[in-house]
Amino acid sequence: MTIEKLGTIRSYHAHIYFDGPAQRRTAEIVRAEIGARFSVRLGRWHDRLVGPHTRPMYQVSFSAEEFPRLVPWLMLNRRDLAILIHPNTGRPRCDHLSHALWLGEILAVDAGPLSDRDDDPEPPIEINTTPEMEP
Ligand code: ZN
Repeated sequence: MTIEKLGTIRSYHAHIYFDGPAQRRTAEIVRAEIGARFSVRLGRWHDRLVGPHTRPMYQVSFSAEEFPRLVPWLMLNRRDLAILIHPNTGRPRCDHLSHALWLGEILAVDAGPLSDRDDDPEPPIEINTTPEMEP
């Protein structure tokens, strides 16, 4: 077993899942709350299943600096939504299946689309929020 270095983490994703119209509305509220408080990239809505994800969701990309602010805030404010948080180390399979943490319900992850090594590594995060509130 090799020791993984923290420096391999280029960024993180939070995948915020929703099931049905009521949870989608909740996910909209959480998304707006995140955008008002954190420097992140809010990804587009995936109302249809995409990649390894087995429930509709949107993705939030964020830096290691934002992790100790955003993740505890999500712990307190996820409003019963299931959330997958994973690092991006360039190894999508490990990142989603063994390096990940879950808030709330633990969902199935489809390993099929996940590669062992990503030849097209995660680009630097282009932040698309303008936070104006303290978390
Ligand atoms: Zn992801």
